[in-house]
Amino acid sequence: MNSRFSNSKIKMAPNILSIDSKILTKKKFQNEEFSIIEKTTDENDENDVQNRSESYIKSEGWFKTELKWKNIITISLFHLCFVYVFFTFKFFENLKTTAWIYGMILIGGIGVTAGAHRLWTHKAYKAKWQLRIILVVLYASTGMNDIFEWVRDHRVHHKYTDTDADPHNSNRGFFFSHVGWLMMKKHPDVIRKGRHVDMSDILADPIAAFSVKYFLILKIIFTFLLPVMLPVYGWNETWYRAFVSQIILRYVLLLNFIWCVNSVAHIWGSRPYDAHINPTENQWVNFVAAGEGSHNYHHVFPWDYKTSEFCNSTTTDFINFFAKIGWAYDLKEPSQELVKIVAIKKGDGSHPLWNAMPYPAS
Ligand SMILES: [Zn+2]
Ligand SMILES: [Zn+2]
Repeated sequence: MNSRFSNSKIKMAPNILSIDSKILTKKKFQNEEFSIIEKTTDENDENDVQNRSESYIKSEGWFKTELKWKNIITISLFHLCFVYVFFTFKFFENLKTTAWIYGMILIGGIGVTAGAHRLWTHKAYKAKWQLRIILVVLYASTGMNDIFEWVRDHRVHHKYTDTDADPHNSNRGFFFSHVGWLMMKKHPDVIRKGRHVDMSDILADPIAAFSVKYFLILKIIFTFLLPVMLPVYGWNETWYRAFVSQIILRYVLLLNFIWCVNSVAHIWGSRPYDAHINPTENQWVNFVAAGEGSHNYHHVFPWDYKTSEFCNSTTTDFINFFAKIGWAYDLKEPSQELVKIVAIKKGDGSHPLWNAMPYPAS
């Protein structure tokens, strides 16, 4: 896997952003960049972090940081195009094309939730190589950064939830936790703490490591080429409609759905499992993010393969199906008794099954 850590420069695929980036070097573990979208190594020098740290003006929860103008412009342009396409696209002209938007959102969503999230980040279940290959392909269709980056970001998020060391700290507001964090330089605490995240398991998984090594080509094929070509060659869709439906509508929708887990599900909703943390239960996010909206539960029991107390999501059905045919195994979940005790002790009293006592406010 050392070749992954070569010093060679590559040009990253056009993500939502087309950005010149360097493939991460052996300093990957020290890399301060925690963006879903972009990774650069021009800031991973210790002194630089120190200097930047000093340059932050921190007072009463506010601090000044450098903006990433390239990201701001690209993300804004994508969203402006989205508004135009959304209101002009004839969704009923060809229902196959419209269904394909939904299909690709679902495919990508499962790649993130069952793959990058539940399998690789949390090790909530184990998967045979066949399933891992499927998940790598599904994940590659999202156009997000490679699995290594995603997992590292998310492990830091869980370890330092809603603190300065959380890449998308929701205490900095909805916009920041949703997308703003991608538009500015990272807080120095994110960089420092992120360096200590153990990522050896990802590099030890040959399939995950392969997907990271060949990230660029996989992304081009599964995010951009195949999703656009299928409607054209499959049912004679025009190139324009195939392009805007997949690269504008599907891509922007999918990203926003996933971002909602970091923003909406950290702000609005009930907290039946732990009243003293920001993450919430939010059914709307559950719906758009393939079952990731039971976020209060997930932060209390991150190792549960269902990311919810209940089997109520497409992703969980997906994993259950593969468990039936033996490709997924060692599915982890807490006992109902443990969940009940935790909910009664720490929840906000909103649990639907148990007459939970609200935890005394501190
Ligand atoms: Zn969270
Ligand atoms: Zn998680």
